[in-house]
Amino acid sequence: MTNKIENLKNYLNNIPNLEVIDNHSDVKRLSRDFYNYSPVLQKKLDSCLADVVVRPKNIESLLAVSKICWDLSIPLTTRGGGTGNYGQAVPLAKGIVLQMNYFNKLEKYYPDSGFVKVQSGCLMGDLNKELGKYGRELRLFPSTWKTASIGGFIAGGSGGIGSIKWGFLRDPGNLIGLEAVNVNLNPKLMKLNAEESEPLNHAYGTNGIITSLIISTDVKQDWYSIVIDCEDFQNAINIIKLCTSAAIELKLGAILEDEIVDKMPSWFKRKNLCHKLLIQSNLGGVKTIEMICKKNKLNLENLGREDELDHGISDLVWNHTTLQMRAKDKNWTYLQMLLPLNEEFKLIKSLRDKYGKELLWHLEAVSQQGIPRLAALPLLKWNDEKQLNEIMEDCRSLGAIIFNPHVLTVEGGGLGVTDADQVKAKQNYDPKGLLNPGKLAGWAEKEKFID
Ligand SMILES: Cc1cc2nc3c(=O)[nH]c(=O)nc-3n(C[C@H](O)[C@H](O)[C@H](O)COP(=O)(O)OP(=O)(O)OC[C@H]3O[C@@H](n4cnc5c(N)ncnc54)[C@H](O)[C@@H]3O)c2cc1C
Repeated sequence: MTNKIENLKNYLNNIPNLEVIDNHSDVKRLSRDFYNYSPVLQKKLDSCLADVVVRPKNIESLLAVSKICWDLSIPLTTRGGGTGNYGQAVPLAKGIVLQMNYFNKLEKYYPDSGFVKVQSGCLMGDLNKELGKYGRELRLFPSTWKTASIGGFIAGGSGGIGSIKWGFLRDPGNLIGLEAVNVNLNPKLMKLNAEESEPLNHAYGTNGIITSLIISTDVKQDWYSIVIDCEDFQNAINIIKLCTSAAIELKLGAILEDEIVDKMPSWFKRKNLCHKLLIQSNLGGVKTIEMICKKNKLNLENLGREDELDHGISDLVWNHTTLQMRAKDKNWTYLQMLLPLNEEFKLIKSLRDKYGKELLWHLEAVSQQGIPRLAALPLLKWNDEKQLNEIMEDCRSLGAIIFNPHVLTVEGGGLGVTDADQVKAKQNYDPKGLLNPGKLAGWAEKEKFID
């Protein structure tokens, strides 16, 4: 085995335009992501370590890496910014971690459609800045947008800021096409249209190494950040629904329970400790939200343009709420779910009655297949796996759809079920099963899905 790895490293060191990293501390750092938000995953993944990390500087060196993986049957796990929460970029079977950060250019902007072609390792913060030059912005981005890559978001993320309007990454219309390298006897760069790209969308890099993507963008707007005080949680839900059903533009809408607000960073401290609604809207929308608040006798604070704030509210939403809670106490973990339509508070009340302050509520307004819905990322004070499963079961029995953040596979987390097209794409583009092994559950029973 040692000889095989030494051979591999010798070979890699001779590939032009390839950075090879094999010092232990860097390899260890680049074999991890943010899986430690889950005590369940932490136990499983802490010992996982790649043999070597590589960073190709062009397509030729990437193809050469793919070829050696095929020839020597070496597992290959692609990594973007390494900000995933489910160990998506953690190499379960050692081998190579391939980092795409040299592929970081905006390649082309299509003025007629607003599409953009961008290399997969481009950080979303940088991409948004570049898009601004064309009067455009990203439709959707995770709260980690400053450090996460666009390729990692498509391959490993699901939605986030912007989901209130644009839904989720897998909704048709968000991903228009992509280019990817396969792992084969003669690896090549494949150019896939929107339909052909679908199986690689949210597949954790198990069926192709994405080199560039064509995605839709939105017209750039100035987004204003608003904080609304709500003494009553049910009322907070009612208000956010009034906002999502109003004829206004929204970028995000979140509700934080008072106990969560209390643990947010000091810059967010307010005199009145109560549940808070965090909303981003354009200037026109702010006027309507002010009117809704006046009618409902609620205090509203307009913090100003998000991009001009020292601290923006995008640092307090989506999984950044979890990040802020964990900054105070590492025993907080979280759940993810879509709440039952119009029975959101019934579920929350029922779980509050049973689990009290062990479970704190953080809601996000989203568009689910075009319908305004509320998702939740509640914070859970870690007890044990038995209690975690019991809570998820309680949520399911009350009508929630759970996206379990404590599992390793594509199917176990976001998708819920095996997508036969993802398995077929793996058969075509990675027939030896070398790409991110262990993450696509359907691959283990591929006979069921491949005719
Ligand atoms: C505090 C915090 C907040 C977060 N908020 C959100 C959120 O709002 N919404 C959300 O969806 N996620 C969120 N996440 C998860 C994560 O940050 C995002 O999904 C992010 O977009 C991942 O991008 P990345 O570049 O870090 O990808 P990585 O973590 O490096 O990789 C993610 C997956 O994509 C694969 N991959 C990466 N690049 C490629 C490529 N070029 N080709 C093929 N496969 C590839 C990897 O193998 C891995 O399976 C959050 C995480 C944290 C820690």
